[in-house]
Amino acid sequence: MHRDILIIGCGIFGAAIAWSLGRRGLGRRVLIVDRQPPASGATSRAAGLVTQVRADPVLQALAGETLAAIKLLKTGFSEDVGCHRVGALHIGPLAQQPALAQMLATCTAAGIRGQWLDQAQVLARSPWLAPAAFDVATYFPDECVVDPYLLSSAYLRGAQQMGVRLRVDTRVAHIRHLSGAVTGVALEDGTVLPARTVVNAAGAWSNLLSVPLSLPLPMAPVRSQYWITGRAPELNPGGPIVFMSDIRAYARPEVGALLFGVRESAPVVVSPQDLPENLQGFVYDMADPDGWDNLAQAFAPLCRYFPALERLGIAHYITGPSNYTPDGQPIVGASDSISGLLVASGCNGSGITYSAGVGRLIAELICGDTPFVDARRLDPARALQIDPFDPAFLQACAHARATKSTG
Ligand SMILES: Cc1cc2nc3c(=O)[nH]c(=O)nc-3n(C[C@H](O)[C@H](O)[C@H](O)COP(=O)(O)OP(=O)(O)OC[C@H]3O[C@@H](n4cnc5c(N)ncnc54)[C@H](O)[C@@H]3O)c2cc1C
Repeated sequence: MHRDILIIGCGIFGAAIAWSLGRRGLGRRVLIVDRQPPASGATSRAAGLVTQVRADPVLQALAGETLAAIKLLKTGFSEDVGCHRVGALHIGPLAQQPALAQMLATCTAAGIRGQWLDQAQVLARSPWLAPAAFDVATYFPDECVVDPYLLSSAYLRGAQQMGVRLRVDTRVAHIRHLSGAVTGVALEDGTVLPARTVVNAAGAWSNLLSVPLSLPLPMAPVRSQYWITGRAPELNPGGPIVFMSDIRAYARPEVGALLFGVRESAPVVVSPQDLPENLQGFVYDMADPDGWDNLAQAFAPLCRYFPALERLGIAHYITGPSNYTPDGQPIVGASDSISGLLVASGCNGSGITYSAGVGRLIAELICGDTPFVDARRLDPARALQIDPFDPAFLQACAHARATKSTG
């Protein structure tokens, strides 16, 4: 059978879309292409947080779908994606109490379990925290961490078992269309792959394929980064994720060390035109190649929460591009102007979390089913007037990361 559904990009979005299409019995119609090995873009660099605690019900639902998919992958496909239900603490000074109370109320109303904890209960779960650093805490026991690479690979393997074909080392040069309808893609070597449906899931590079179609996507790749300390006995594996929104930081124990990320006040943004195909060794900011300046700024506040940081030092630094949108919404949907063209991108640092929800939504749109969430705010064509390569627009996306609320 001719493969008439073509997915560009085999990161976690492309893999989850292929998996969802496979589950609808369309696997033998799907070809997924990537110029690099699967999951070697942003996906393999992610910190692995899968968190449902969010103010927006659509984003909550996308995340909920991923938690359900992880269960199904385990029971139905025998896939262990390194998922641990470690829970999440949201802690801070007294001034954070109203914000924490509001998030707790929103999530409880949505059926997400959560509660207040006192200081002793927090320290029992996270003995590495300094008691003097925080006054209030909420706890959500069902939040998870996964291995992003394993989750992405599990979607892909499941999709392949259901008939999806993968082609790597395959560089899409542009998406072809005629009379308002997609006709396929042209590869850099001149080959044409015909298709009636094309999904642009090309991650940080999506705009390079979308802009020539007069469909600028309102997003830009912003540097995301996290660090892993040396090991310490108090860093119990299985301890919860801790969000410290007053210092825009999160942390979680990882292999007996602490993995932590900080959102900078002025994040580094790059144009997709300057992003190489292979991210290995790419330097986002020549003036601060290893994020050391950002870490230096955040160091004192971090030490207030985690005094041992100074003693343990930093063992690893991980960085990669996350697509931020000025409105904080992902970009998922079909083009109005070119039928058969769909986009899945704009993850705002949460693509692992949203993956199965995005996969389901795109599959529903392809099949003509009623979407399981109201996807209007995710519309790829919601900002057709922007130039996504314009420096002022890039800065608006960086600002979106700096001011993003927890989750
Ligand atoms: C440091 C860091 C930490 C993060 N932590 C988390 C976290 O804890 N939780 C969470 O939910 N999210 C997290 N994220 C975000 C998450 O990693 C991304 O949202 C997600 O991986 C995006 O997946 P993707 O499939 O859209 O992109 P990618 O994984 O980048 O995949 C895109 C693919 O498209 C391919 N491609 C591009 N152009 C072409 C072309 N022309 N032809 C063929 N192939 C092409 C690329 O080779 C690539 O493989 C983090 C991101 C970073 C960088």
